[in-house]
Amino acid sequence: MVKKYDLVVVGAGNGGLMAACRASLMGLKTLVIEKHNLPGGCATSFRRGRFEFEATLHEVSDFGEGPARGLLGHLFDELGIEVEWLPIPDAFRVIVESEKGRELDATVPHGRDKFIAYMESQCPGCTPALNRFFEACSEIDEGLEYLGLCRGKPDPEVLRTRYSNFARLCGASVMEAWKAIEMPQRCIDILSAYWPYQGGDLYTLDAVRYFKMLDSYLSNGAYLPKMRSHEISVAIEKRARQFGCDFWYNREVAKIITHKGRISGVVTADGEVVRTSHVISNVFPHVVYSKLIDDPSLIPEYELKKANARTFGGRGFTILMGLDKSPEELGIKDYNVFISISPDSATMYRRCFSRETNNNLAATCLNIVNPNASPEGTTHFGITCLFTDEGWGDVTPENYTAIKREYALNLIKRYEDTMGIRIRDSIEELVIATPITFARYLGSPQGAIYGYFSDRWDGMIARTFSESMEQTIPGLKFVGSHGVRLSGYLPTYTSGDLAAKQVMGEIAGGR
Ligand SMILES: Cc1cc2nc3c(=O)[nH]c(=O)nc-3n(C[C@H](O)[C@H](O)[C@H](O)COP(=O)(O)OP(=O)(O)OC[C@H]3O[C@@H](n4cnc5c(N)ncnc54)[C@H](O)[C@@H]3O)c2cc1C
Repeated sequence: MVKKYDLVVVGAGNGGLMAACRASLMGLKTLVIEKHNLPGGCATSFRRGRFEFEATLHEVSDFGEGPARGLLGHLFDELGIEVEWLPIPDAFRVIVESEKGRELDATVPHGRDKFIAYMESQCPGCTPALNRFFEACSEIDEGLEYLGLCRGKPDPEVLRTRYSNFARLCGASVMEAWKAIEMPQRCIDILSAYWPYQGGDLYTLDAVRYFKMLDSYLSNGAYLPKMRSHEISVAIEKRARQFGCDFWYNREVAKIITHKGRISGVVTADGEVVRTSHVISNVFPHVVYSKLIDDPSLIPEYELKKANARTFGGRGFTILMGLDKSPEELGIKDYNVFISISPDSATMYRRCFSRETNNNLAATCLNIVNPNASPEGTTHFGITCLFTDEGWGDVTPENYTAIKREYALNLIKRYEDTMGIRIRDSIEELVIATPITFARYLGSPQGAIYGYFSDRWDGMIARTFSESMEQTIPGLKFVGSHGVRLSGYLPTYTSGDLAAKQVMGEIAGGR
């Protein structure tokens, strides 16, 4: 007998899981279909030898206590999702080192007061500019709250009069906003370190999103789950099941089917048909429109134009290592170090186009946050680097292994030379994931890990403003890194939550 659900969620990444959890809580009969054998997508871990490797998560904000508990923390509390969080000691260390030598080496602490005091020591006289930055962040929060209340359809007059600074920031790039705030260059250099988290240079990225991210990390701290990001995925899945959600693993959705101009079901790769009036896709629109939808003539022209106008966001490259010495023996003291050749995000962004020039990296040592992250006397160590173009498009099956090893070795050497720490002799386990790995595992085009590039016309604010006006095929919604909220743990979870509520609204409203 053909199975029927109110909602089918395609993919159990962060967006899909949260959508399923919220939808089930609201009483929608929900099914999640995931092609792998476990939930999480990017938010996962895996074992090699004696090590359990964190696949992606470097840090997430919002899970402090009291005022440091942000939007995501409250969402988890409301849904009863239980995860044990560990605080990360410092925000980050940033090192800029070129052939000319070391230009910058700063270790930025969490906590607004500590942060301001530290920045003052690095750049005397910068406190008024930093205060202006935090004021702008408060105005962003108020403006976003207003946008939420008016469901993305703001009254221009209210925006102009009550939220004028927010309105101005909505149209500004990060660099334009720094300029307006008169942020000293040395502070800009330090605070540019996070640009790889959003995968775009700060001359292009929208100020609202970057400022919000900076503010939540610097003011409220950053966290990691004790048992890797897999713990989060399992906790959300458990809650969704308690609310009545069904999960099918090892099943891939091969087609999304339509009837009379709207969604009517899905078909799995092994031929099972599931009837539903609503599909939430954790899979990219590019893939849905080109491969999954049975009747492409239903895709609104506007949606196709938008998909064609977009480029893909950052593609991932990671090296995960299990080292047979402790961090103390190796001399590793930092959890998170960004190493680059220039403090200028536009220069770095361009260098990330190809393997020849890209040696910009973030190195993380999990044991600094969680001393039990690996067996005693060992270290869980990772290097991540971002590609901002199709920098692996030229690789063939024949040269792939040699190229990825050579590239990984170059990054390891770059870390060793910059830090004066030798790790090569201590490698017990080593796993390399290239954009090709991410493309295969996640099904994301070109191995994009950050959805679509967050261009000026397509940033968080632009997507929020246009969301209510944009329609795809009736009954279909998208969640995840390619969605309205863009990429990262927080945005993908909140996009899932929002989409489930929208589906509930449509079902309750009879659409
Ligand atoms: C190396 C790395 C480091 C990162 N670090 C951070 C960080 O520190 N902080 C942060 O906030 N973010 C970080 N991110 C980004 C964050 O991990 C992602 O933005 C987020 O996890 C993406 O979630 P998603 O909802 O888009 O789903 P995805 O993780 O993309 O999952 C999609 C799911 O859909 C499934 N699927 C695909 N096609 C089908 C199909 N046809 N049928 C069934 N299932 C299908 C896939 O198997 C997968 O499980 C990092 C990402 C990477 C790769």
